[in-house]
Amino acid sequence: MTTLFERIIQGEIPCEKVFENENIFAFKDIAPKAPVHILIVPKKVIPDLQSVNLEDLALMGEIVQVAQRLAREFDIEEDGYRLICNNGPFAGQTIYHLHFHLLGGAPLGRMAG
Ligand code: AMP
Repeated sequence: MTTLFERIIQGEIPCEKVFENENIFAFKDIAPKAPVHILIVPKKVIPDLQSVNLEDLALMGEIVQVAQRLAREFDIEEDGYRLICNNGPFAGQTIYHLHFHLLGGAPLGRMAG
């Protein structure tokens, strides 16, 4: 089954894209939890963090590099930001296409609340 994020990446569903290369797509979250809230999504459909394999490790590194670049571009590098991945129901994962939330632009509070 096609994931919602595949449909966004393919342009079937509109989004506010902020980055794209061969492997990665990033866009603004539709329901932002912070002034900057970007979703960083690999084009390869990996359902969740727990499914990441050894062969995906370069991709994981690339995601971190994209997060660093977007943190610079959105001017949240100096004050700090959070990069999180919800894995599974207890973490609140709703879309089973691996993605990382880049959050910043205001104090984010402590970790799990
Ligand atoms: P998670 O709960 O970690 O699976 O994150 C899914 C995220 O996708 C949530 O923060 C949603 O607000 C976001 N989301 C759902 N649909 C869209 C959409 N059409 N465009 C942008 N973000 C979306």
